[in-house]
Amino acid sequence: MTNKYEQDLPQSAANHSPLTPLAFLRRSAAVFPDKIAVIDDDRQFDYRTLLARCRQLAAGLGGLGVQDADTVAVLCPNSHEMLEAHYGVAMAGAVLNALNTRLDAATLGFILEHGEARVLCYDSEYEAVVEQALSSVSQRPRLVAIERDHGASGGLADISYEALLQGAEASAEPLWPADEWQAITLNYTSGTTGNPKGVVYHHRGAWLAAMSNAMAFEMSADTVYLWTLPMFHCNGWGYTWAITAVGGTHVCLRRIDSDLIYQRIERHGVTHLCGAPVVMNTLINDLGAQGKTLSAPARFALGGAAPPSTVIRKASEIGFRITHLYGLTETYGPSTLCVPQANWAHLENDALAEKMARQGVINFAIDEARIADPQSGQALPADGISLGEIQLRGNTVMKGYLKNPETTAEAFEGGWYHTGDLAVMHPDGYIEIKDRAKDIIISGGENISSLEVEEILYRHPRVSEAAVVAMVDDKWGEVPCAFVQLRDDGPGDERALIEFCRTHMAGFKVPKKVVFGELPKTVTGKVRKNVLRDRTGPTNNTSS
Ligand code: ADP
Repeated sequence: MTNKYEQDLPQSAANHSPLTPLAFLRRSAAVFPDKIAVIDDDRQFDYRTLLARCRQLAAGLGGLGVQDADTVAVLCPNSHEMLEAHYGVAMAGAVLNALNTRLDAATLGFILEHGEARVLCYDSEYEAVVEQALSSVSQRPRLVAIERDHGASGGLADISYEALLQGAEASAEPLWPADEWQAITLNYTSGTTGNPKGVVYHHRGAWLAAMSNAMAFEMSADTVYLWTLPMFHCNGWGYTWAITAVGGTHVCLRRIDSDLIYQRIERHGVTHLCGAPVVMNTLINDLGAQGKTLSAPARFALGGAAPPSTVIRKASEIGFRITHLYGLTETYGPSTLCVPQANWAHLENDALAEKMARQGVINFAIDEARIADPQSGQALPADGISLGEIQLRGNTVMKGYLKNPETTAEAFEGGWYHTGDLAVMHPDGYIEIKDRAKDIIISGGENISSLEVEEILYRHPRVSEAAVVAMVDDKWGEVPCAFVQLRDDGPGDERALIEFCRTHMAGFKVPKKVVFGELPKTVTGKVRKNVLRDRTGPTNNTSS
């Protein structure tokens, strides 16, 4: 028998609707019609116009034959067009596949084929790579050229983006998802091992991720957000939707350039921005060298890779207030954050930075995070020592991998999402990552966290960037090998760096070799440790 709270209390249109980020734009266009929604170089649109353009895009896509659950791929830098695609594509009932602009033609071809893109909108800057990519695609998508700084399409495209919008009716009613579990976006992982996997997000998850991230980063209608993070990366960690939800202003940025970032922060009064530690490191080096500091503090959410505590400390000296986030493409970006506690306020800079370098506690829409033994699946104690895999469950974990049921089942085995990251949980419940499972160094049976060794290397004044990987060793099996990029142009001093490490860590953790030079990075700016492992060469010294 149904209980009294279920009897005669049904869901209806009055009290229930599918959660979707489309509602954010509808609301902000009604509440803040004249407010600037997006600034993109010499163009800016208020919320009323942004909504109208998104509706036109949806109608235009419909005119190109886009139907329910079709894929619309977009390849362009952070721009108002990319932002519009985050709404217009869903309003056409379709799924947005935002493409990484740094991918090669072969990978782009793979993604377009695998995702079955019906339409590809691309900035004419990428026409050559698009043409090449299409040669491996069996069903050629309809092509829409975004003709901005790089001029008109050289004849490849079927129509220009602006012509598509101009020919469409802004009054056409946008489609609304019938079910919040419907897909909204498709994001391919970087695929360092094998082909990229297509991570599917749903409307409900996107709504929740946006709300959680807006709360985690304390956003409001006064938020002015600078797009230092690519919108193609996990849909800009959900901020493509979150900024619109609060009625803030999106400030676009087409390329990472310290001077440009500084100018935009100062000119537009930027309050929030995001990025990987490598972006912050570039800012620290460039702005630090010019002695520049921000005239008003800006909040910077750091994530995507472990930020060394020195980066957090130096960032705050320039005027950035750091929020540390951790997450994966599979978790709509940020799934944990390092929430500062009141009793940390009295800590000295270095001690505070060390606490903030931890990946922290669950974000609002994640239910649980645990550290588990990857073999037995048993949860490990919060003792700061027991090393296990971070496993997550909650409403901002992906729907799954597109057309890949086995990998999806593997990723969700036992009712938890398996991140592949190794971490400890401290007694205060804060998670600290030690390594990706594949990057941990096992030397004479002892685990060495590459991040821990890097953390020390970053403290050396000449070190700009450092990455530590396993090097094969006859005696120990593996030993740490450090790759270092210096701040200055002088010659590297291997012995001095090894000595520096020796005074700060146990002997077995000290790198046995240091190689100087620029670090190879993935298209998302992460150090390519697999490439470095191939470059380690023979060990110099196997003692200690
Ligand atoms: P890709 O694998 O394509 O680079 P992701 O953005 O999904 O893309 O990468 C997620 C991985 O990045 C995580 O599994 C983790 O190893 C790393 N990562 C993300 N944020 C942090 C962080 N704050 N600290 C340490 N590692 C992080």
